[in-house]
Amino acid sequence: RLMKSLEIEVFQCRSDNYGVLVHDPETGLTATIDAPEEQPILDALARRGWRLSHILTTHHHTDHVEANLALKEKFDLEIIGPVNEAVAIPGLDNSVMEGDEFQFGNHTVCVIETPGHTAGHICYYFPDDKILFAADTLFALGCGRLFERPAADMWHSLQKLAALPDETAVYFGHEYTLSNARFAISIDPDNVRLQDRVQDIEEARAAGRFTIPTTIGLEKETNPFLSATDPAIRRNLLMETKSNEEVFAEIRKRKDNF
Ligand code: ZN
Ligand code: FE
Repeated sequence: RLMKSLEIEVFQCRSDNYGVLVHDPETGLTATIDAPEEQPILDALARRGWRLSHILTTHHHTDHVEANLALKEKFDLEIIGPVNEAVAIPGLDNSVMEGDEFQFGNHTVCVIETPGHTAGHICYYFPDDKILFAADTLFALGCGRLFERPAADMWHSLQKLAALPDETAVYFGHEYTLSNARFAISIDPDNVRLQDRVQDIEEARAAGRFTIPTTIGLEKETNPFLSATDPAIRRNLLMETKSNEEVFAEIRKRKDNF
């Protein structure tokens, strides 16, 4: 049967976090992806006339869970989050793990565990809608810093996301795109697709426009953190004979020091 498309509202929270609301027009359900800051979320809900029913938590960092309890007091909502960080997520009602599926109205949601940035980080994938909420695992031209797991784990997490359909829209947790772009072009200067994209990003940011969402296909073509197998990048790094995990670790280390 035909399903109405989900509606998505994107807005800024804190200094560089993205707030994302997902609304199902058929059932009226509305989820916030993480809860970085109460007031901008309330404002976005009011703008659209939506009522919050879910918080989909990706990981335990303060800038993703800070408004959980305040929002729970205001709305009759359910907080879903990663089982591997359950104790660190305020107000958690239901914990989920790799391979779990649940319904958001008539839309299926798949849970993808992506350890790296944190040990329990999860992403939410809506396969009927081809939408991924990647939070601090995959950014436009970047990936999350490695706080709780080694580079090899993050490489494998990113490979799971790269295996989704190219047309998948990717909503991510932070507006770091301009600095990511400057780093990416330093690692992969001859990538014509990346050159074009860097120019688009510079224009977008100069005009104050958001760079969210991106797509899996575009990231595969231009994001150096998905490109550890790329011969040109390996050559630039003098790492032609190294493993993918080693090349990825080197790219991540260079970004940390960029
Ligand atoms: Zn984080
Ligand atoms: Fe974050």
